[in-house]
Amino acid sequence: MIRLKRINEFEYFAPSTLAEAISLLAQYKEKARVFSGGTDLLVQMKQRKATPEYLIDLKNIAELKGITYSAAEGLKIGATVTHGVLATSPVIPEKYDMLKEASLAVGSVQTRNRGTIVGNIGTSSPSADTPPALLALDARLKLVSADGERVIPLTDFYAGPFKNVLEPTELITEIQIPDLPENSAGTYLWHSKITEEDETLVGVGVVLTINSREDKVCTRAGIGLCSVAPTPMRARKAEEFLKGKKINDNVIRQAAEIASQESLPRSRAEYRREMVKVNTRRALTKALKRIEE
Ligand SMILES: Cc1cc2nc3c(=O)[nH]c(=O)nc-3n(C[C@H](O)[C@H](O)[C@H](O)COP(=O)(O)OP(=O)(O)OC[C@H]3O[C@@H](n4cnc5c(N)ncnc54)[C@H](O)[C@@H]3O)c2cc1C
Repeated sequence: MIRLKRINEFEYFAPSTLAEAISLLAQYKEKARVFSGGTDLLVQMKQRKATPEYLIDLKNIAELKGITYSAAEGLKIGATVTHGVLATSPVIPEKYDMLKEASLAVGSVQTRNRGTIVGNIGTSSPSADTPPALLALDARLKLVSADGERVIPLTDFYAGPFKNVLEPTELITEIQIPDLPENSAGTYLWHSKITEEDETLVGVGVVLTINSREDKVCTRAGIGLCSVAPTPMRARKAEEFLKGKKINDNVIRQAAEIASQESLPRSRAEYRREMVKVNTRRALTKALKRIEE
C-alpha cells in the first residue's frame, strides 16, 4: 500500500516590501522559511525534509526582482530573478554568457520559469547547476537581516551538502558579480543528463581573462565545479596554474588534469574525475575561442 505523506500545515505570508519580509523572519526565526519559486522547498516539504510553520513568499517584493549591469558596479541579480528571466535578459552583456548557459541547464522550461538563481544557491545542493559559473565569476551574496547586512563571497556560503551559513533571520537579497575585464569569456558545460530532470553528474563553469588576443597570457582564471565534492567548489590549484601562462592546448590540458586531481567526488569517483578533466579542457578551449572571435 502506498502511504501518501501530507504536507505540514503552515501560515503563508506574501510581503510586498523587503522590510516586511525581514521583520517576519526576525519574528519567526527557525520556524519560518523564505522562498521564491518553491521548486526545491515544496518538494522538500512533501518529503518532510522541511517542515516550516511559516512560509514567506518573496515574489511580490519589487526590490528583489531586478537585474542591473554597469562597468563600475558589475552585474547584480535580484533574489527573485528566475532562470527563464536571466537566460533571456537583454541587460546582461555577452561576456557573461556562461551564466545564461548555467540557467538553461536547470530542469525544463516550467522549472526555469519558476525557479530562481538565488533559490538554486539557497538549497545548497552539491549538484546545483548555477554555482560553478557563479564561483568562477567571483560572485558574492548580499545577506540582510533586521540586524544589518553583510556581503560574503559565494565560496564562503556553503557549509556542507544542503547546508550553508545563513542565519535563521537572514535572507539573500542579491548576487553581486564584479565586472569582467576586456578579453574575458567563459562557458558552463555539464555532463550528463538523460532527461532534463536529471541531476548533473559533473558541471564545470569556466571564466578566462587574457592580456591580449595576440599574447594570450592568462591574467585571471575562474573554474567552478559541481557534483564532484560535498559542496560546489573552485578548482583553485588549476586557476593558479593558469595565471601568467600563455594559453595553448598543452597548458589547457595540464590545467584540466590539475582540476580533476583536486576534485573530491565520493561516488563514481574515477568516472567523475575523468569527466572533470574532459569538461575543463573543453570549457577552457571554448572560452579562449570566444575571446578570439
Ligand atoms: C523537476 C525539477 C527539475 C529540476 N532540475 C534542476 C536542474 O537541472 N539543475 C538544478 O540545479 N536544479 C534543478 N532543480 C532544482 C530547483 O528547480 C532549482 O534549485 C531552483 O533554482 C530553485 O529555485 P526556487 O526559486 O524554486 O527555490 P525555492 O524552492 O523557492 O527555495 C530553495 C531554497 O532556497 C531558500 N531561499 C530561496 N530564496 C531565498 C532567499 N532570497 N534568501 C535565502 N534563502 C532563500 C529557500 O528557503 C529554500 O531552502 C529542479 C527541480 C525540479 C522540481
